[in-house]
Amino acid sequence: MPGFTVAIVGRPNVGKSTLFNRLLEQRKAIVDDSSGVTRDRQYGIAEWNGKSFNVIDTGGFVAKSEDIFEREIRKQVKIAMEEANLVLFMCDVTTGITDLDADVADLLRRSNKPVFLAVNKVDNHERQLEASEFYGLGFEHVHFLSSMSGSGTGELLDEITALIKEDDEQAEGPDSDIPKIAIIGQPNVGKSSLLNALIGEERNIVSDIAGTTRDTIHTRYNLYQKEFILIDTAGIRRKNKVHEDLEFYSVIRAVRALDEADICMLLLDAEKGITAQDISIFSLAARKGKGIVILVNKWDLVEKHTNSARDYEKELKERIAPFTDVPIVFTSVPEKQRIFKAIEVALDVYENRKRKIQTSKLNEIMLKAIDAFKPPVVRGTPIKIKYVTQLPTHTPAFAFFANLPDDIKTPYRNYLENKLRENFNFQGVPLKIFFRKK
Ligand code: GDP
Ligand code: GDP
Repeated sequence: MPGFTVAIVGRPNVGKSTLFNRLLEQRKAIVDDSSGVTRDRQYGIAEWNGKSFNVIDTGGFVAKSEDIFEREIRKQVKIAMEEANLVLFMCDVTTGITDLDADVADLLRRSNKPVFLAVNKVDNHERQLEASEFYGLGFEHVHFLSSMSGSGTGELLDEITALIKEDDEQAEGPDSDIPKIAIIGQPNVGKSSLLNALIGEERNIVSDIAGTTRDTIHTRYNLYQKEFILIDTAGIRRKNKVHEDLEFYSVIRAVRALDEADICMLLLDAEKGITAQDISIFSLAARKGKGIVILVNKWDLVEKHTNSARDYEKELKERIAPFTDVPIVFTSVPEKQRIFKAIEVALDVYENRKRKIQTSKLNEIMLKAIDAFKPPVVRGTPIKIKYVTQLPTHTPAFAFFANLPDDIKTPYRNYLENKLRENFNFQGVPLKIFFRKK
């Protein structure tokens, strides 16, 4: 499913993160049912009118020190113009139009993407009048908001979601049966090196296909009679390294790549270990229902002793808990160590993600597990789960039918997930579990 990404740009303190939190808030009503969920500060999924989109708060990526922020903000705006589907430019009515606002507006007017101007802190009628000066910046779409109170945000969401095409989800094209693998990770972990090592074997390449998003290249690849598509989002093969070292750039690229992929290979630098940013991307992938393989790259640089890989894996799993049923492959690109193995593992995960369990088999095993460890008694009534079925969704989802579905809490949900994983191979695949009234 091609995604839609909105980047919020603007000076510090105009209210970007306040709006960001408000846009994501709509989602709280929806039970976050995928494994490994943590809420991120800088990016997330907003939902409105039955549509969802990615939101990225660039404020999370800029140092708040006066002397460097102007330059950083200009860079962010340029990246947002290249990489996002829509740029939300936020200003503050209480300061009026500042020089930096005017500068950013000049950059944004050259964008061929939609730009919405959001004038924030319009908390009352008086400020509404003051806000009209912002029409002078020359944007077609202008919204007056109070992110704090939420006024104006509904209209903004209406206009954003109006730009998202409903049929995008179905438009899968002729390659929809071929696994799509995205290589993601922080700057310098070895993404380009890995991709080049894989596609360097020219004889395996079937063709390059333009991706659904501009600047994305899909390389159709054939290895041991298995076809798959490697998704290279803007940058890796373009060799345009100007933004490469910026965290915001690698994050927006990863968010985009995830939307187009079935499976992601999350590369880590073995010497640096897993970072907070990696964990955020990991949980975003899980929430989007994508298959995941972790590659611990540059393994050649780590001094080995008897249990190195096992110890490393154990520590890594502690960091990514609770979703730990994820394959971990230790790779080295220059030594060509396990790079093809990593592809094989990713293709296994693809198969796991497609796995459909027969209802009779599912009930036979799961009802036995439920009987062995019964759900708790609430307000004097025992919770009874009578039936389970796998839903006909793209990514595995299970519905358990119970007398008191709303009273089943996370620990029991996790027990059921563990039992599913023990009995059926869902390695690398996030599972959704729903409880419904029988
Ligand atoms: P950021 O640096 O652009 O992410 O800005 P923040 O979201 O951190 O907000 C900066 C300050 O503006 C905070 O003190 C917010 O409480 C305040 N703020 C945000 N939105 C509004 C609003 O709609 N009205 C008013 N009066 N204050 C706001
Ligand atoms: P990217 O920013 O994630 O695309 O990273 P690059 O592919 O540009 O790699 C960054 C640096 O790490 C380059 O100097 C690579 O040669 C080096 N590198 C990549 N993979 C490995 C590896 O497995 N082992 C070692 N020792 N170096 C690597």
